[in-house]
Amino acid sequence: MSNDLPIFIENLRKDKKLDISIDKNLKIDWPWTKIAGPCSVEGGPGDKYDIVEIAKIVKSNGANALRGGAYKPCTYPVVSSISTGNYNWKEGLREEGLDLLNLAKKETGLPIVSEIMHDSQLTNKTLDIIDIIQVGTRNAQNYDLLDSLGEINKPILLKRGLYGQIEDMLGAAERIMTRGNTQVALCPRGVGGGPSYRHIFGSIWSPDIMIIPALNELSNIPIIYDPSHSTGYRNFVKPISKAALAAGANGLIIEAHPNPDNSVSDPEQAITFDTLGEIFEWSA
Ligand code: PEP
Ligand code: MN
Repeated sequence: MSNDLPIFIENLRKDKKLDISIDKNLKIDWPWTKIAGPCSVEGGPGDKYDIVEIAKIVKSNGANALRGGAYKPCTYPVVSSISTGNYNWKEGLREEGLDLLNLAKKETGLPIVSEIMHDSQLTNKTLDIIDIIQVGTRNAQNYDLLDSLGEINKPILLKRGLYGQIEDMLGAAERIMTRGNTQVALCPRGVGGGPSYRHIFGSIWSPDIMIIPALNELSNIPIIYDPSHSTGYRNFVKPISKAALAAGANGLIIEAHPNPDNSVSDPEQAITFDTLGEIFEWSA
């Protein structure tokens, strides 16, 4: 190992992973953390995609936290997913989405993982409802946002940037942690710019499995792998989940939907709850 690692990262190299406890049911550490839910929160009580019902199913499949985008950015804000011809995508429900997540949390007790995009969204309400704040790929180097997240007392799930290098990821974590909030988990979620599977499978992403053991050599920050965004294609989610765990990930965050093809965002990568259950069984 070279001696020229940043001092901060050197200090993080301890045998034991950082201890991030969300509540008595969820500690981001071994045995692995299982986070699942739809890409976007999209349905309320009585709706066919009722988030409370979804949360119950997610829980019964072994998840220990619920994911769902409220402040959800879409690449094309009006007409999305040009490449696949699916024109039903919608931007997130924002505050209304948070309210729905809150219902699901109250009903199931599952901690909530959700993204915020700007520090103006760090309101009391957001902090009350979201248990693990996700920093999205497109914000992975939004330093003002990272600085603000360093000043709160709340676990952060920090995604890898679109073309982020390992230094970018560790530097972003350092930025949050040096401000006082040491509750950071890293989330590799695939990279663009590698071989594209677009023509056959509709995916532009490549899973970044090797960064898992690399990060584990450099730091003791827990790693939650995202096999959904890193593959972009549902048939790949299960094998890549297995690869990530074998490589040393401490958990997975997976997109699942009651009717994957009808998900309002990321339909191609959403998996069924049956498949989710099969993946989560590995931790038993
Ligand atoms: C997400 O997890 O909902 C998401 C938008 O992922 P990413 O930021 O990795 O694209
Ligand atoms: Mn998504």
